[in-house]
Amino acid sequence: MKIRPRDDIALMAGYHSPQLDVAVRLNTNESPLPPPAAFTDAVAAATRSVVWNRYPDRQAAELRGRIAARHGVTAEQVFAANGSNEVLQCLLLAYGGPGRSAAVFEPTYALHSHLARVTGTAVVEGERDDDFTLDLVAATTLIDSARPAVTFLCSPNNPSGTVAPRATVASLLDAVRSAGGLLCVDEAYAEFAPHSALELVDDETPVVVTRTYSKTWAMAGARLGYLIGPARLVAELEKVALPYHLDALKQAVGLAALDYVDEMQARVDAIVAERNRLSDRLGGLPVEVWPSGANFVLIRPLSLDGADVWQQLVDRSVLVRNCSTWPRLKGCLRVTVGTPEEGDRFLAALEEILA
Ligand SMILES: *Cc1c(COP(=O)(O)O)cnc(C)c1O
Repeated sequence: MKIRPRDDIALMAGYHSPQLDVAVRLNTNESPLPPPAAFTDAVAAATRSVVWNRYPDRQAAELRGRIAARHGVTAEQVFAANGSNEVLQCLLLAYGGPGRSAAVFEPTYALHSHLARVTGTAVVEGERDDDFTLDLVAATTLIDSARPAVTFLCSPNNPSGTVAPRATVASLLDAVRSAGGLLCVDEAYAEFAPHSALELVDDETPVVVTRTYSKTWAMAGARLGYLIGPARLVAELEKVALPYHLDALKQAVGLAALDYVDEMQARVDAIVAERNRLSDRLGGLPVEVWPSGANFVLIRPLSLDGADVWQQLVDRSVLVRNCSTWPRLKGCLRVTVGTPEEGDRFLAALEEILA
């Protein structure tokens, strides 16, 4: 076969999140619990009312309207897609591309730079401080000089859990605006955090906020995410999305979920409580623990090798994310918050390994 992929694609590693068959899976930041049974029943009923022989509503008008109402914005300010990863890809297709760049602050969510590269967008890398907070002076200098078309801020940041303070987001937005760019705040974990950048969004401000059903809504299996941003920007994203990219059943599923906000909130509250308990307990062990506003906690064993600890956890049927070889995360492990029972199993295994 003579045909070759684009040189830049051929050189890429691709995105992997290894799975293993273990009793306690705390590696991909999923919800430990499925959505409520009433939701599953509603989905079953929706399946019967889908008009299967017709294309779905291309605008996903009802779904966007309901998401908009939940956040106090207009349907024209909502763009929905197959997971927030597709949202990010559409954003880069429309606003990135050859001759343009995207800024990221590492260590952060790998998909931001990966999708930038896939769409032919140059990547400009800034660095977070050792405590994973954003150094505003360095960030502003980077934006002033590189003038990226899109600047990504992940808050709470995956994999560190760091929440950017309101003032930091506002200052970063000022820098982005002066440079003629767009700020994308990835809020995949916003519901677990104390505040959101949603209040900054209006039709004149170059800021968008992305959300997902994958984490909060316990619906990683459904692949649904969305963006809130200026209506004119949303209209541009619709041009690059594939026609009918949101199938009819997914639209129905996304709508059905919105009938269970209270149940979702109860689960979020339980996960936040469990996260705080885990962080407290970890604070008493010989590991470094970073403050988290998400449904996971980043740790670094102080005297043992991170990869060793990861393997020893696997040997005890507990799977966490091994970040120990990722740049700037030497020796680190990311632990998703599960049920209290899963948390206890993880803690018992870790205590045994560290003893
Ligand atoms: C999990 C995650 C997403 C979610 O992606 P989906 O495609 O919606 O599942 C987006 N951003 C960050 C930072 C994440 O950790």
